[in-house]
Amino acid sequence: MANIVVTGAASGIGAATVELLRRSGNTVIGVDLTGTEIVADLSTSVGRTQAAAAAVEAAHGVLHAAVCCAGLGPLSSHSGGKLVSVNYFGTVGFLEELRPSLARAKQAFAVAMSSSSTSTQPRIPEKVVAACLDGREAEAVELGDEVGAIPAYPASKLALARWVRRQAVTPDWIGAGIRLNAVAPGVVDTPMTSGSDLDPNLAKAIDFYPVPLGRRGRPEEIAALIQFLTSDAASLLTGSVVFADGGTDALLRQDDW
Ligand code: NAD
Repeated sequence: MANIVVTGAASGIGAATVELLRRSGNTVIGVDLTGTEIVADLSTSVGRTQAAAAAVEAAHGVLHAAVCCAGLGPLSSHSGGKLVSVNYFGTVGFLEELRPSLARAKQAFAVAMSSSSTSTQPRIPEKVVAACLDGREAEAVELGDEVGAIPAYPASKLALARWVRRQAVTPDWIGAGIRLNAVAPGVVDTPMTSGSDLDPNLAKAIDFYPVPLGRRGRPEEIAALIQFLTSDAASLLTGSVVFADGGTDALLRQDDW
């Protein structure tokens, strides 16, 4: 079957994705800060380069898919700048390093993890989004620190969604046979949203998010979508940002289309 690298493989959505893809017979190489095949810190450019080189080596030069789940949430104790460096630059830098190897597969897939907060959270700081998309990492991190983690989170995820839409349609990606898409989950029950280290009041506030389906998502539900996006069944999708949020985006932005 396929050689697939998954970042954020040790927890939550990444761990559920690793399990599902392995059960389907794929060779899956995990990347995370600890507890997986490749240990790397994707907040640094050295970490991204080393992780990508190790993944390509483990796949004997040909990767068929890359799934980037590594991320830090808005309720974590990390600074806004750290969120920007992991969520945006950790994904973009890693995927750019892997692109030549994905291109060698002729038909390949890449999935980035955006968030439904990009369309539901008010006052996303555009200056952070712009610095990310311009590749000005030091400035984006500084701006992320300035605005704080709660606004920096959707900014990093909005930049990622826009990066996916811009890049997916270029000769480098679709022209090289790589279908690049993003998933935008709503609230999913993982350590990011219900970990014991979170501020309990902020963690409770998440449930004020209106979800027409009536419950949080489960990591396996996002993993199933990722499996689809890394398969031939998704043959017409490129540059798509797929919302999987129990209806929140549709409810809050009904006619904003
Ligand atoms: P999680 O906290 O369970 O898992 C995230 C993983 O990323 C962890 O294993 C962590 O160690 C890893 N990670 C963090 N910093 C890293 C770094 N510097 N280098 C390498 N790995 C690092 O979170 P999750 O809920 O499974 O989230 C997965 C992705 O989905 C994230 O990108 C998150 O932003 C996104 N997302 C989650 C939700 C949600 O409600 N859970 C909603 C929308 C989007």
